[in-house]
Amino acid sequence: MKQLKNYFFFMMCLLVLFSCDHDHGLDSDDSNFPSNQSNLVRTCGMHNHMEKLLTNPDYAKMHQNKLAKIESMASTRSLCSNPVVLPVAVHFQGVNGDPACLVSLAENQIQILNDDFNGTNSDISNWTNGSSSSFPGVNFAEACLSFQLADTNHPSGFGLVDGQPAVTINQTTGDFNASFSGYLNIFVQFGTGVLGYSPLGGSGNGDGVVVEASAFGSGSGCGNVVPNAPYNLGRTTTHEVGHYLLLDHIWGGGCGQDDGVSDTPSSADSYYDCPSVGVSSCGSVDMHMNYMDYTNDACMYMFTEGQATRSENYVSSSLNILTSNASNVISGSGSGGGSGGGNNDPCGMVTDLTGSVQDASSIEISFTGGCTPLQSEIQTCG
Ligand SMILES: [Zn+2]
Repeated sequence: MKQLKNYFFFMMCLLVLFSCDHDHGLDSDDSNFPSNQSNLVRTCGMHNHMEKLLTNPDYAKMHQNKLAKIESMASTRSLCSNPVVLPVAVHFQGVNGDPACLVSLAENQIQILNDDFNGTNSDISNWTNGSSSSFPGVNFAEACLSFQLADTNHPSGFGLVDGQPAVTINQTTGDFNASFSGYLNIFVQFGTGVLGYSPLGGSGNGDGVVVEASAFGSGSGCGNVVPNAPYNLGRTTTHEVGHYLLLDHIWGGGCGQDDGVSDTPSSADSYYDCPSVGVSSCGSVDMHMNYMDYTNDACMYMFTEGQATRSENYVSSSLNILTSNASNVISGSGSGGGSGGGNNDPCGMVTDLTGSVQDASSIEISFTGGCTPLQSEIQTCG
């Protein structure tokens, strides 16, 4: 019972965070896309990017080693009690938005990323109450990963000070910055020609994912960075970070050419827009509501457990450079299950965290330990 105070702090955080998201523009209109509102077509440049990277023999050898490690790793899952923390930096390029607004937009995108990987996205109900019945035995993912904006010990030369999130504005170019080695970098750009791209299996050496500015985050945007329907719910970043964690497109190379994940069905090709549930190819129903397809943001809402396991295994086998950096660049992070797991929080890490949704407006949470991270959640909302 000694944690009663923390319980109320956490409940406050949930309420405040929800209201903040609403302030960012997550209103009811966001889920109602007229089918003819945009003639944009989702495209992802991962394969072209990999073709270029693989022309380097050293990179090609390293990539094969990563794949071999993954193939040898266990595919079983256990309950997540201590998520592995991945430090994130967001780099806006060519933008004219208000800095505070851009930071909020970056935080909004990180929240979406965590929700999507952890299966806590509000539209997961589309799966649990609907489309899952078309995929017997397949469960949605609750990846044991936590993406957090770094906020201390920033690289010098970017004007960032302790306490500020690692969000740079018009201070980087391209899709690589060695100063941000040890971070999962998100480069927000204009005119990429695609919605985004990433290496298939990132290195953590200053590389990262690229997201077209019009597909970054959700809400009304900042300056010239405006989320544009139907890619305005932040799912392009989810898709590209999936690639970064070695998840291929769900259709792989077509029927008979698997994506390397056992519980995703074979598909002949990508899907676009918002297809009906139940359409099939390769002799099985296609999972076009998966984040690794090409459907609209509002029509993709889940990873499978197999995808979660593959991404977790990739983090543990090939991204130690990120996990070991978490406690250095995230204040009070505890850095979760990462191999570099330190804990600077005087209240101790939160453990034995359990929660359940009671109804539409009530969530019951219980846990042991922790205080600073929970209070700081309130601060992020201003
Ligand atoms: Zn892709």
